[in-house]
Amino acid sequence: MDLVVTAPKRPSKGETILGESFKTVPGGKGANQAVAASRLGAEVYMVGCVGDDAFGKAILENFKKNNVFTTYVEPVTGMESGTAHITLAEGDNSIIVVKGANNYVTPEFVEKALDVIRESDIVLIQQEIPEETVEYVSEKCHQFGVPLLLNPAPARPIRKEVIEKAAYLTPNELEASILFDKKNLHESLIEYPNKVFITEGKNGVRFHNGEKEIVVPSYPVEALDTTGAGDTFNAAFAVALAEGKSFEESIRFANRAASLSVTKFGAQGGMPTRKEVEESM
Ligand code: ADP
Repeated sequence: MDLVVTAPKRPSKGETILGESFKTVPGGKGANQAVAASRLGAEVYMVGCVGDDAFGKAILENFKKNNVFTTYVEPVTGMESGTAHITLAEGDNSIIVVKGANNYVTPEFVEKALDVIRESDIVLIQQEIPEETVEYVSEKCHQFGVPLLLNPAPARPIRKEVIEKAAYLTPNELEASILFDKKNLHESLIEYPNKVFITEGKNGVRFHNGEKEIVVPSYPVEALDTTGAGDTFNAAFAVALAEGKSFEESIRFANRAASLSVTKFGAQGGMPTRKEVEESM
């Protein structure tokens, strides 16, 4: 859950100030991507944990409202939901994330969802859960022959075996520079053709197709709020790939969906429906 405060300035150490507004909005990369994929017409199962608090109930409600199956979303007794404490002040944000129940998304927990993972067209995973769980899911998807789209966000180093077992990786530019040596980004793209897709904001997406490096530009829009652009991109890319679209077609679809998402406020607020994407293409 995102807890968003707007204030005229940031308080100094020891200071109390009056803010202007406070909102709670459902967020988190996994949840955002699940909601975006569902709006784009996919049948989506979320695997994750919420706290046994009011936020946990609201998060489950939000999944239901967006037709995301919650069979594998469980409340953790005595634990708080994962929260992001966001201060919007002086034209910029500062954020403290408390993982809470997200820490309980362990390999043992995910084991309960192996049946749905085995039967999925694609599995989409992010890094707001323990590293060992990402490694476990990459192993299982590889074993089942189910493509795994690993969105390596927030950035952290990833073992080479995990990169190799994933079908697709979608770092943004900052994440790519942490994942691969910045100087060797071009070589990294050559090393992983049709696997590493770097999102570059309004410039679109860069990848190597085995013959040459390609940049698929995004669509020009008036950007109001880019929160969740990457989440919409990842969800739309996964949906298009699962439907058997080519890489370039899938990127165009995902660029279109993500560019629409930045024209409205909030991460989930701007996520388009399938109809909205198709009508704008
Ligand atoms: P993140 O949100 O993870 O930092 P990016 O900023 O790279 O990721 O954005 C992800 C995708 O969202 C881009 O590849 C592009 O398709 C779309 N996008 C982001 N910002 C804009 C923008 N200003 N105009 C059009 N498309 C955008």
